[in-house]
Amino acid sequence: MNVLRFSDLVQQGAVRGRRVFIRADLNVPQDDAGHITEDTRVRASVPAIRMALDAGAAVMVTSHLGRPTEGAFQPADSLAPVARRLGELLGREVPLVRDWTDGVDVAPGDVVLLENCRVNQGEKKNDPALARKMAALCDIFVNDAFGTAHRAEGTTYGIAEYAKVACAGPLLAAEIDAIGKALANPKRPLAAIVAGSKVSTKLTILRALSEKVDQLIVGGGIANTFLLAAGLPIGKSLAEPDLVDQAKAVIDAMAARGAAVPIPTDVVVAKTFGADAPATVKPVADVAADDLILDIGPETAARLAEQLKSAGTIVWNGPVGVFEFDAFSHGTETIARAIAASEAFSIAGGGDTLAAIAKYGIEREVSYISTGGGAFLEVLEGKTLPALEILEKRAAG
Ligand code: ADP
Ligand code: MG
Repeated sequence: MNVLRFSDLVQQGAVRGRRVFIRADLNVPQDDAGHITEDTRVRASVPAIRMALDAGAAVMVTSHLGRPTEGAFQPADSLAPVARRLGELLGREVPLVRDWTDGVDVAPGDVVLLENCRVNQGEKKNDPALARKMAALCDIFVNDAFGTAHRAEGTTYGIAEYAKVACAGPLLAAEIDAIGKALANPKRPLAAIVAGSKVSTKLTILRALSEKVDQLIVGGGIANTFLLAAGLPIGKSLAEPDLVDQAKAVIDAMAARGAAVPIPTDVVVAKTFGADAPATVKPVADVAADDLILDIGPETAARLAEQLKSAGTIVWNGPVGVFEFDAFSHGTETIARAIAASEAFSIAGGGDTLAAIAKYGIEREVSYISTGGGAFLEVLEGKTLPALEILEKRAAG
């Protein structure tokens, strides 16, 4: 993907003394008292900010936080806790600026945080008047927010249209590179694991991936829909019967390329959905009318793990079972450990997938963990992300 990179501008000496506007993704989870409960995104934003400061730029950083109402700032919408955390990480005070669209006072070598950009009127709808004002605040616009790259908003799209220079920050660039390595020029065979609970979205992903991948592994609610397509009983399990024809289309598309979608041969079922529901392993043909399939069975998991050993590239989204409950977590753990042990270039993304990776402590064994939940899924769906599209357009002149 051909975009201008901030690191290249820094190398060319084109950043010193310049006003740099960084769109970061600082949308962190907070508890009721407003304390940050998980600061990965703040930490991930530091390299771009440091890079700009070290290069001698006057640095402005903004992000959205939560879902505020435009034009009606509430204390709960404030990035104040983020400013404090960022200050700790940078080892310097990070002043927070309110009402910043008409002008920002910041000197070269300094950094300010611009209050929640989604409070500005016109941000969500990408109002050109707002975008032009924001673009006028800077010499260089840096998008480093992959997590919002699937939305065309004022700070993700409009500002990039009008800024003198628009480029990708280091975090965004790393995402672009990893996705390119996995999907555009993958080392074969390319295996994808698509599982989880969002059946309809993920079926779109499967359709897009069925054109590209050599092995398509399904789990979770998706697998149940495929079991239905194969004429197998699934009891009361999560599935989308309306989408059986689409599942069949995926199977056919894969078959046409000489590949198969391996459906589970054994499953773990329960009578109720709960952490202490007794778990029973059974062959897939024996699922009863009152059973809930909550995980793939051990035989299936072992077979899939074996298949993953030969992969050159692995793309993973979605836990293959209800991994939050220990009795139904073995399938996901087996797959996670197989990915960890694999020599393949592996990329994983998705909110719950990241939780599973953390649960099994395999962060370092996965080659690349995407920071964008929704954005990552849209990439897998084969969509072009608006925030990247505009950076490409700008790079093309
Ligand atoms: P991600 O956030 O990684 O994209 P999803 O949100 O699509 O993944 O799905 C994750 C959720 O799917 C988990 O909470 C998990 O418990 C649930 N899940 C997985 N398998 C099943 C199943 N067989 N039945 C019901 N829920 C499932
Ligand atoms: Mg999820």
